Amino acid sequence: MFSIFKRTKEQTSARELKRYYKIVDQINALEATYAAMSDEELQSMTFKFKERLENGEEITAIIPDAFAVVRETSKRILNMRHFDVQLIGGLVLTEGNIAEMPTGEGKTLVASLPSYVRALEGKGVHVITVNDYLAKRDFELIGQIHRFLGLTVGLNVPMMEQGAKQDAYNADITYGVGTEFGFDYLRDNMAHSIAAKVQRPYHFAIIDEVDSVLIDEAKTPLIIAGKMSANEELHRIAAMLAKRFVKDEDYDFDDETKATSLTDQGIEKVEAAFGVDNLYDLEHQTLYHYVIQAVRAHVMFERDVDYIVRDNKIELVDMFTGRIMEGRTLSDGLHQAIEAKEGVEITEENKAQAQITIQNYFRMYPKLSGMTGTAKTQEKEILEVYDMRVIQIPTNKPRQRIDQADIVFETAEAKYEFVAQETLRRHEKGQPVLIGTTSILQSEKVSQYLKKYSLSHQLLNAKTVEQEVELISEAGQKGRITVATNMAGRGTDIVLGEGVEELGGLFVIGTEKHESRRVDNQLRGRSGRQGDHGESQFILSLEDDMFKRFAKDDVEKFRKKMITNDIQRIENKDIIELINRTQRIVEGAHFSMREYNLKLDDVINDQRKIIYDLRDKVLAGDDLLALITRMMYETVDFAVRDNAPEEVDPIEWDFDKMEHTINSLLLTPVTIDQAETKVTKILDSLNTNVFELRDFIESFQSNEQVMNIIPQVVLSYIDATWVKHLEQMTHLKEGIGLRQYQQEDPMRIYQREGLELFGKNYQELRRSIVVELVAFMKNISTIEEQEEI
Ligand code: ADP
Repeated sequence: MFSIFKRTKEQTSARELKRYYKIVDQINALEATYAAMSDEELQSMTFKFKERLENGEEITAIIPDAFAVVRETSKRILNMRHFDVQLIGGLVLTEGNIAEMPTGEGKTLVASLPSYVRALEGKGVHVITVNDYLAKRDFELIGQIHRFLGLTVGLNVPMMEQGAKQDAYNADITYGVGTEFGFDYLRDNMAHSIAAKVQRPYHFAIIDEVDSVLIDEAKTPLIIAGKMSANEELHRIAAMLAKRFVKDEDYDFDDETKATSLTDQGIEKVEAAFGVDNLYDLEHQTLYHYVIQAVRAHVMFERDVDYIVRDNKIELVDMFTGRIMEGRTLSDGLHQAIEAKEGVEITEENKAQAQITIQNYFRMYPKLSGMTGTAKTQEKEILEVYDMRVIQIPTNKPRQRIDQADIVFETAEAKYEFVAQETLRRHEKGQPVLIGTTSILQSEKVSQYLKKYSLSHQLLNAKTVEQEVELISEAGQKGRITVATNMAGRGTDIVLGEGVEELGGLFVIGTEKHESRRVDNQLRGRSGRQGDHGESQFILSLEDDMFKRFAKDDVEKFRKKMITNDIQRIENKDIIELINRTQRIVEGAHFSMREYNLKLDDVINDQRKIIYDLRDKVLAGDDLLALITRMMYETVDFAVRDNAPEEVDPIEWDFDKMEHTINSLLLTPVTIDQAETKVTKILDSLNTNVFELRDFIESFQSNEQVMNIIPQVVLSYIDATWVKHLEQMTHLKEGIGLRQYQQEDPMRIYQREGLELFGKNYQELRRSIVVELVAFMKNISTIEEQEEI
């Protein structure tokens, strides 16, 4: 069954490759033509391609020529001629799919092809790299090709001035890090004028290391936060409580979804500690929030793994690179909860003003593409979420890396001992060794064992990107030993030193299996680039985190039949099966978590679109009057229906309240006929009043001052509502766990109540805007009258 499935899959990709090779043949056939051209003639091709596109030709029609032109330019400018397999990579990207190419195959040069072709459409291409360092490098290096061909190239990095950013975005091709593009989107949607925005509509993006951007980094949303002072006392008490809490007795914590909630017993303890009667009361929502964050700080954040304490401050650690994330803080009081847990000074809280997940950001591009060494294992997810296929590109030269079978020890100590001994064995003959770890703590552990054997080594903890890139790039030198977390310096080429090839190339040791085979492959891929020799080996133990968290029972069972040798190495053949099974469980758990988070985010995503659309309309200003009139109409309509429900007998309608509410919405007060029994009649009677505000505002059309203030008033209400709504949605998410519904799926509750909450807040937003505008305009008319006197 499995083999049939596998065969069909391989056949499809072979057929697919054949199609690509046909186009490659066409490109190759054009080589002589373009090689014969002068620089000027070659440069003029850009203009010709653009013209052809403008005349309605399809992108596919110009691809062979365009690729041939880029290749010829690269030969002249960079002295590099795209390999045939790189052309295939370029084709896959141009079509909006993912090209899987192992490290060292030259993905940077591959990106020069689709970025050129797609930029010809004149709507901008974004090339996303994993860090600013690589963005700058590619901008400078690959950018030469595009600049030669007459395109503009921009670099988008943090902290740039607005004008510079606009220039970067207006370029044909823009390089930068994904998070910065996402933050720019959020900042653009907080801008107070259209001129202050920096981005243009999205067109096409190429994401380098696409799996790490869309999968690994997708767990934490991008958040723009404003400061507000924290309640220190509450944080401290909550931290004390959380410290004493027992899991499953006082609180529930779901490893998969990270949902945290208190049990009845936990709630009683909180009520006793704070002296409140009922924690469920709406007024105690904040209190509940503090306690939940304290519990989270306790179970989800481990000192020296997720954060370190330095200079009386909490500094977050990037779990993939093991690097300190300078200046990054968690929002919504979570950071303060960790500060309280560690007893350090409590800083101001960040309140989310805008947020988006990187997934939802990139889903706004009409066409996406990506490159990576490892994505095939995640193909299904990528196809479902991003509509991209993963095409494996053949390597330029045959691969020569040997991936050894896993070695497993009974204890962690025996594992590290063996890691050090194996390193020593390799080191004695001069072979470079790269040891991959999953956290800073583990790196330090490995380092201790290496010291025991007097093995001097590079420890890549908490280094800057530049240092990291430099040290990683030297990891292939003779006699080098490098210890680094799995993603350190990703995208950096490890070139082998002299004589290393003969020693078997770079030896990579993995000290723990990662959350997916994909990340294991990333680590292995650091060795054996471009047909180099190389070797990789995972050295594990039954005490590894993965087993402890996901296979406790299985490991217990396994221990009963386990056979170990004198160095505690497990000799049972089926240990490999246990490893693979456990890793599949972990992969499944992570996939569900991403799916769950995405579903949660989808709720806010739709709402964000509505709010940002509204904002854009206000900023554009063309039909501001129509917008205000519609708001006025809807608000009055709501006020009438709210007090005159159709299903209630008109005798019981609350006319006084109706009149009171409506008069807060109108310039001239009205009296409502209390004998009326039809809602539509009441609404008809108000028709002229509804248009009064619009007419009055219109009479100020030539008064610039007034016309400038109005959109700002509207904007300030939109923004404030959105901040408040985001906060309430966060509380709602936390609250789902609190109300332990037996029959209903928490996700359904969140979706339904999230929708209701938005409806309520949106209605309130429209009402506040109308009330404020009425007050503002009344004020103006009094000023005018006074001036007339
Ligand atoms: P990847 O990102 O796929 O790991 P890089 O883009 O870092 O690979 O490229 C690896 C190395 O190969 C770089 O030094 C690059 O200059 C070189 N390279 C790539 N393509 C070519 C080519 N067509 N001809 C010569 N050198 C190339």
